[in-house]
Amino acid sequence: MVKILATDGLHQDGITLLEEAGYQVDIEKVDADALPAVLPGYDVVIVRSATKIRQELIDLCPNLKIIARAGVGLDNIDAEYARSKGITVMNTPAASSRSVAELVFGHIFSLSRNLHRAHREMPTSGHSNFKELKKQCSNGTQVFGRTLGIVGFGRIGQEVARIGVGLGMKVMPVDLVVNQADIGINVYNSGNVRLSVQLETYEWEEVLSSADFLTIHVPFHGGAPIIGEEHIAQMKDGAVLINTARGGAIDEKALLKGLNSGKLRGAALDVYENEPTPMQELLEHPNVSCSPHIGASTLEARANIGLELADKILAFFGD
Ligand code: NAD
Repeated sequence: MVKILATDGLHQDGITLLEEAGYQVDIEKVDADALPAVLPGYDVVIVRSATKIRQELIDLCPNLKIIARAGVGLDNIDAEYARSKGITVMNTPAASSRSVAELVFGHIFSLSRNLHRAHREMPTSGHSNFKELKKQCSNGTQVFGRTLGIVGFGRIGQEVARIGVGLGMKVMPVDLVVNQADIGINVYNSGNVRLSVQLETYEWEEVLSSADFLTIHVPFHGGAPIIGEEHIAQMKDGAVLINTARGGAIDEKALLKGLNSGKLRGAALDVYENEPTPMQELLEHPNVSCSPHIGASTLEARANIGLELADKILAFFGD
């Protein structure tokens, strides 16, 4: 019988699928200290970001066949080393794309209609200052007809494009590799019609200078930021910058400068250079809509992750 340890938990849908195939799935938090004694008894370990699977632990587990990451980033796993030992390392890169894309639009709507500001100020000054706040929040804009620049036209970038097209935005993606994609849209209430929508990518400079909203969806592992001071300088006056990719992909000091000078109308951030202690000036800035790295944290994404991992594990064992 295949024995699986899901030490950081797994959505019930995934557990059910594995148990129905006759696998033993143990959902229990095993502390880092106890893992060397416990893990050698398992064929598969499933982790989120909390548990580290390092070389020393891998060496203690000759029977381990799969290290599965419920999520995307593999930085908590010595993946190359595991592979060199014949262990399959898998993750679920597609499961949360829609959730991240929807969060982007949560922020876009928030900034467009000053919802972030109203939420902050109404509880404290809403009664005494209702009319003044109404005046200050009344310079909102529609997103219809606006230009949406997308840096990185991969899984999440294409989901963002799909929603943007549906909202009547002019969508301008840029990518190092991808030239075009069919971001087809399903219209469920018309007998499941699928509309084919081909989108071409644009040149970097064209996207920077045209976008009313510029959203980043590229991997970032440190080094020079994808959007630095020079890129912000090339952006359209009054544009909004959105980062739900990784902290540091946008230079935060340059971002703050752009916001303070009025070059940028606003910014939306789900990820930060310093997590879990982001730059205070950004969090408090009246033109910043922020969230605590929740891009992939929805019920649906968790269920998708569970199902996708279960499918991959079953396929590995030929079930
Ligand atoms: P993906 O690999 O499907 O797409 C990334 C795209 O970016 C690729 O097409 C690649 O060619 C392109 N690219 C890479 N570097 C580029 C550059 N400098 N300029 C232009 N294009 C570039 O990745 P994805 O699934 O769309 O995820 C994107 C990122 O989103 C991930 O790397 C991850 O950091 C982040 N993410 C965040 C959350 C969250 O909770 N906020 C959740 C999931 C993923």
